Amino acid sequence: AGEYGSDDGVIATNDDATSCKACAVSLGYWKDPYLACFLPSGPDRRPPEINRGFYCRTQAIYLLVQKFIQVNKGECQVVNLGAGFDTMFWRLKSSGDTPVRFVELDFPEVTAKKTHYIQRSKPLLQAISHDDYDVKLNRSNLHAFKYKLMGADLRVLPEVEAKLEESDIDYSLPTVFVAECVLVYMCTTKSSELLKWIAKKFKSAFFINYEMVNLGDRFGEVMLSNLRSRHCDLHGAAACATLLSQQERFVSEGWAGAEAADMMSVWERLPRSDVARVIKLEMLDENELLTQLFTHYCITMAWTDTRWTDITL
Ligand code: SAM
Repeated sequence: AGEYGSDDGVIATNDDATSCKACAVSLGYWKDPYLACFLPSGPDRRPPEINRGFYCRTQAIYLLVQKFIQVNKGECQVVNLGAGFDTMFWRLKSSGDTPVRFVELDFPEVTAKKTHYIQRSKPLLQAISHDDYDVKLNRSNLHAFKYKLMGADLRVLPEVEAKLEESDIDYSLPTVFVAECVLVYMCTTKSSELLKWIAKKFKSAFFINYEMVNLGDRFGEVMLSNLRSRHCDLHGAAACATLLSQQERFVSEGWAGAEAADMMSVWERLPRSDVARVIKLEMLDENELLTQLFTHYCITMAWTDTRWTDITL
């Protein structure tokens, strides 16, 4: 906490995200046998539009990261910023798409809990193990063959740099960064510093950012005040004003280009057969509510290297 005050509210957002994902998984939206290992108490039931929202976000991010790994034939790295209890490493591993290195950063409070769950779970531990490499761990850091979980405050660049180096990061390898509902919790000065540092430091970077957008209207205001009352301040909300501002935050920090799309258009680009399966899972009383939600969240892809402009949904 220190100069930034208490981070408890932000840290709690991970429990909420995990529980929402676990609810959608339990209803069959997508397969994730690993998530339950991080939620021993089981998920709470969520409304259908929330489940569809989480399906859309999880699938889209997964497909983009998988494409990046496949295009690079695995000779690349993934860095998941504010990863929470995300299971992407295990899901990729089970489909045979692993990068050279997969690094996750979050507050030490979160990575300590994740480390604890990983140690207790045979399937999680098995997937990160390698015959010639001992898993090294302490309270909040875990160092396996490809998978690295590190406690760091993303607002403190020297900490981020030190933890990436401890993970044996290779600045010359193509690297995809994921920030799934994370940057909004940091003030824009700090998130901009981070984006600028990545663009400068990595030879070839691709960024996938998921967060709120179009917050200027009535629905956006209500959404923000709900989130604020449940969790914490959303210091970065200013950067989420429009799709254009989401793109500009990258370009103005030295990225070669960026493209932002709201979740309505992301939903339309997801594989149709899977979408057809998913819409049969639960009745949606009010399509309007889903449309509202989808137009208030977006995915922004940004690149420092024009080779990655082909990576789209
Ligand atoms: N990305 C995960 C997902 O979508 O399931 C978790 C999302 S949760 C809404 C936000 C995460 O960002 C939390 O795990 C929180 O601890 C992390 N986070 C926010 N600000 C952070 C910071 N300054 N340093 C490290 N982690 C941070």
